[in-house]
Amino acid sequence: MDGEFGYRTLAVHGGRDDLGRLGVHAPPIDLSTTYPIADLRDAGAAFDALAEGEAEAANPIYARLLSPTCARFERALAALESAEDAVAFGSGMAALTAVLLSFPDDRRTVLGVRPLYGGTDHLLESGLLAVDVRWVEVDQIASACTPDVGLVIVESPTNPTLEEVDIAAVCAAAGGVPVLVDNTFATPVLQRPLELGAAFVLHSATKYLGGHGDALGGIVATDGERARRLRQTRILTGGVLHPLGAYLMHRGLATLPVRVRAAEACAAELARRFAADPRVDRVYYPGLAGAPRPSQMDGTGAMISIDLDGGTERAAAFMGRLEIATPAVSLGSVDTLVQHPASLTHRLVGEAGRREGEISDDLIRISVGLEDVEDLWRDFSDAL
Ligand SMILES: *Cc1c(COP(=O)(O)O)cnc(C)c1O
Repeated sequence: MDGEFGYRTLAVHGGRDDLGRLGVHAPPIDLSTTYPIADLRDAGAAFDALAEGEAEAANPIYARLLSPTCARFERALAALESAEDAVAFGSGMAALTAVLLSFPDDRRTVLGVRPLYGGTDHLLESGLLAVDVRWVEVDQIASACTPDVGLVIVESPTNPTLEEVDIAAVCAAAGGVPVLVDNTFATPVLQRPLELGAAFVLHSATKYLGGHGDALGGIVATDGERARRLRQTRILTGGVLHPLGAYLMHRGLATLPVRVRAAEACAAELARRFAADPRVDRVYYPGLAGAPRPSQMDGTGAMISIDLDGGTERAAAFMGRLEIATPAVSLGSVDTLVQHPASLTHRLVGEAGRREGEISDDLIRISVGLEDVEDLWRDFSDAL
């Protein structure tokens, strides 16, 4: 499957190229951890190929080396991100870890643009993977790209303030340094960072790609050579995605364009109503303020943040009164989820880091689901 098809067609049919040969309609879930060896010499050659980072082999040998069910999800997501290849992991953080482990010893400085997902921020700050983070503004990237820098990390729209970072400008400023864009919020339906010059696209597939809040996973879309390195790392460190999760995420991709557009329509209407409501102090939603936007995102997405004057206490009261929306972290599910970043997702970033990312105690983040807009509005309005 490639670019000659429309996007919805790609989403429905991607990664299913071997089903005809198998004589099945739904992708089989292959739960094998090991695979019978018919010929020892052939198996040795397959082992070598997989250890080198090949995406396919005549025999998978062992499920940490290759999972046919995961491979289908990888091929499907690669097509949607306009990528040569994609490599799936057990979670978004496992995917990020593999990327961070893939840089040479003399290039272990990472430039990060805040705010990022709280877990990403905390992992970079922790020093755990022998990376040294330097926090920069977008206009400082060009001068900050010294020879020790191996990666630039950005997220757009930002989490949880929903500002758009100009991805093409970041990639131009980074020069030869690879840029990783966390595309979890936008999804490839709205934004394809590789087409803008990024080297890596990261997804927490737990969110929109899976889309139903029932499986944890991560995936990185990139070029063939970088994917090979990531597969080598995945074999060594074992951050693999379980085939059942891979099946669910692959299935999720089929409805991704339809889900994202439906949730976006609902979110855009809710954002307008929040903005017109005097009980809400500030609304964060792409394009709402009327300021010029980079042209990278084909739409506005389904994430909204609002400020309610009154800090954590008012946020807790608001969240406690919701009846349809669920107070919970995570996002991108069929149902609406509401959370307080300062208490939860961005807790470990610390107060100073949150101040730098302009994440106040008043801020509440909403992941709009697929419910009827009038029901959601009544729920939010009653809770206010
Ligand atoms: C959830 C999330 C992650 C981490 O993904 P996990 O699947 O929870 O490990 C990374 N980036 C963003 C933007 C996220 O929302």
